[in-house]
Amino acid sequence: MTSPFEYAPAPESRAVVDIKPSYGLFVNGEFVDGRGTSFKTVNPATEEVLAEVAEANEADVDEAVKAARRAYTRVWSRMSGAERAKYLYRIARIIQERGRELAVLESIDNGKPIKESRDVDVPIVAAHFFYYAGWADKLKYAGFGDTPLGVAGQVIPWNFPLLMLAWKIAPALACGNTVVLKPAETTPLTALLFAEICQQADLPPGVVNIVTGAGDTGRAIVSHPDVDKVAFTGSTEVGKAIARAVAGTEKKVTLELGGKAANIVFDDAPLDQAVEGIVNGIFFNQGHVCCAGSRLLVQESVADEVMSRLKRRMATLRVGDPLDKNTDVGAINSAEQLAKIRELSEIGEAEGAERWSAPCELPANGYWFAPTVFTGVTQAHRIAREEIFGPVLSVLTFRTPSEAVEKANNTPFGLSAGVWTDKGSRILSMANKLRAGVVWANTFNKFDPTSPFGGYKESGYGREGGRHGLEAYLKGADD
Ligand code: NAD
Repeated sequence: MTSPFEYAPAPESRAVVDIKPSYGLFVNGEFVDGRGTSFKTVNPATEEVLAEVAEANEADVDEAVKAARRAYTRVWSRMSGAERAKYLYRIARIIQERGRELAVLESIDNGKPIKESRDVDVPIVAAHFFYYAGWADKLKYAGFGDTPLGVAGQVIPWNFPLLMLAWKIAPALACGNTVVLKPAETTPLTALLFAEICQQADLPPGVVNIVTGAGDTGRAIVSHPDVDKVAFTGSTEVGKAIARAVAGTEKKVTLELGGKAANIVFDDAPLDQAVEGIVNGIFFNQGHVCCAGSRLLVQESVADEVMSRLKRRMATLRVGDPLDKNTDVGAINSAEQLAKIRELSEIGEAEGAERWSAPCELPANGYWFAPTVFTGVTQAHRIAREEIFGPVLSVLTFRTPSEAVEKANNTPFGLSAGVWTDKGSRILSMANKLRAGVVWANTFNKFDPTSPFGGYKESGYGREGGRHGLEAYLKGADD
């Protein structure tokens, strides 16, 4: 079933953003030219080149780390928590004031629907700065000491460019550290706009440094000898390489890596709400979500009913222009990611799973993938084990709660899970048995700055968010 009527386009104006033809690096409070080469960032919905961005080399990274060290020693670590908080509150307020600009730019550079960048990403980014501003003068009550580590080197992925930046920068600054942050190579623009916001907030030069580039720039940050703390969010493969690179050094590390979450639907669940939760779990942000509910485990007795309601709902999802306020599913972030999603989906078919894609028309230009569901998936299938990181759901069935737990935990990852049931006692017993950092009950993909987030096993270690998120940026008794 397709939508019974067409929506008139309702595009958000992009006039609110001012994209420059080229960008340098943000070091010591100023935009400077990089010494290395440059790369292009592209709008994934149109393939239009948006800007030429500097690729920081080792010397650029060294300059940024030196600026961060100077700012740490001379200014930031000497400032009282209450003073640091004023800057964080100011940044939070400017993010709110410039929220529309940030949301439009995020959607243009990343491909995510404007309704998500406007109503989810940017509000949570501001909330994160407000939240950690509140901690800056209360660190001694948090239970992790109040001594900062020094310079934090932070490397983030492309799926939530601003949100991941906020998760990294807000707690680091609140605790008195200074930072060198690298955004992902396909989504550098909002981090560079954030650099302007730091200038607008009169943040002392060198407290935040933004260096753009790809893997080599990331490696230079991680292996720089004067970086005290490495915070990484990205793929498990790169996370493992980083763990190896810092092994044997004094650097403190947190790794937020991949996931393959089970979204578990019991037969007593309110099925319409569960279907909304399944859709939100896997199609939010095109499925480019580390904690996406990419494995649906549905109780056998309701499997047919859930699948028919799910397909009906998927057929109404609007895929297309990320700046259109009606869009539910935007563009895939890059040609590389699209190729990876296509490849794993073809493998799913070759392995014998049954593929169904929503009957939507995809735009001619840009990178697109229709919301897709695979049924008849078994645990041996690669689409049940590997992170696809796209709008692709693998469906498995179960008969008993213990079978659901066994299947849910049968993964090298351990980031998140969802449980849909009418029984509170079952929620508690499942949450205790699921080996996942976050377990949502009768909801999915809910984020709040007060709540710690992080994984087990190959999903990484350390927690971001909440009081726990402070620990990663403070010298504990054994450091
Ligand atoms: P990626 O690992 O390829 O890249 C992440 C970042 O690391 C990028 O900025 C990249 O330039 C940089 N990088 C690449 N090689 C590097 C190296 N050798 N040393 C240092 N830095 C290097 O991941 P991606 O494809 O950008 O992001 C998708 C992945 O991120 C998914 O696996 C997803 O699950 C994960 N993720 C995890 C969380 C979480 O909180 N657990 C959140 C969002 C995304």
